[in-house]
Amino acid sequence: MAELQVLSDTSAFRGACDAARAAGARLGLVPTMGALHTGHLRLVEVARQRAERVAVTIFVNPTQFGPHEDFNKYPRTLERDVALLRNAGAHLVLAPTPEQMYPPGDATRVNVGALSRHLCGPFRPGHFEGVATVVTKLFALAGPCTAVFGRKDYQQLKIIERLARDLLLPVVVVGEPTVRDHDGLALSSRNAYLSPEERSRALAIPRALAAAAAAFAGGERRAARLIEPVRASLFAAGLRLDYAEVADSEALSPFSGDAAVGERAVLALAAYSGTTRLIDNLVLGEDTAPLVAPE
Ligand code: AMP
Repeated sequence: MAELQVLSDTSAFRGACDAARAAGARLGLVPTMGALHTGHLRLVEVARQRAERVAVTIFVNPTQFGPHEDFNKYPRTLERDVALLRNAGAHLVLAPTPEQMYPPGDATRVNVGALSRHLCGPFRPGHFEGVATVVTKLFALAGPCTAVFGRKDYQQLKIIERLARDLLLPVVVVGEPTVRDHDGLALSSRNAYLSPEERSRALAIPRALAAAAAAFAGGERRAARLIEPVRASLFAAGLRLDYAEVADSEALSPFSGDAAVGERAVLALAAYSGTTRLIDNLVLGEDTAPLVAPE
């Protein structure tokens, strides 16, 4: 089993990343908020395929949570996470304190403009600024590396690709497909909040994505014809929608009405099952549709 170094000190982490590169290793980086599941471990596996040394960060980043969101109750399971990462063959873990990541007097924020204004943006003011800021800091600490993210958070991935390019950061950003449970539900640390009944209602999400993928495969390109059935089926399942849109897969601007969505477009949604906010997406024309359990 790999030797795993667990650090809470950001300078020590920077030193360990520098040392790995000085020893000739490529560095892989997997930023997370912990409460790890198989989706996160898949990112570690991909990082290991691309780099000899893999660093995972575990940080529940306060600046990406709104005042009424779940920062305080977000699951924190560091010991278990470290055991999983040791098993998965990671080499380095950084689990810093908020004070380390946001030094006294902290005033700088990274804002990625238009990409943050669509989809989840209006429903989570400040969220993507918090994400972009913390990821920039993690990239600054890690230095040159390949950073692996999940496409489960598609908008986040697009924002991180953009900021790495715009800020000339020495980071290759890789996006990996969403890992789903056997019944199609996208794995998420927040699934732990769901009661059995809320979880079974949430299965309407992968079903709706699969139906939209089938319509797209059958030739449907009109935005409303793709998205209206998704909205209707989530509503019928008793889920409360923040949004469900078909959007440009790079600019993230939504299509509406009879607009043709082209040969590659992202269908993205955020919906509440009970009080738990779930997000999911599918890149039509690219992703394989979720395998869903029969109703
Ligand atoms: P989080 O801990 O939720 O901030 O997620 C850390 C990383 O894991 C992000 O890049 C997420 O997109 C990714 N991730 C979360 N859930 C999944 C999933 N089900 N499949 C693949 N990647 C995921």
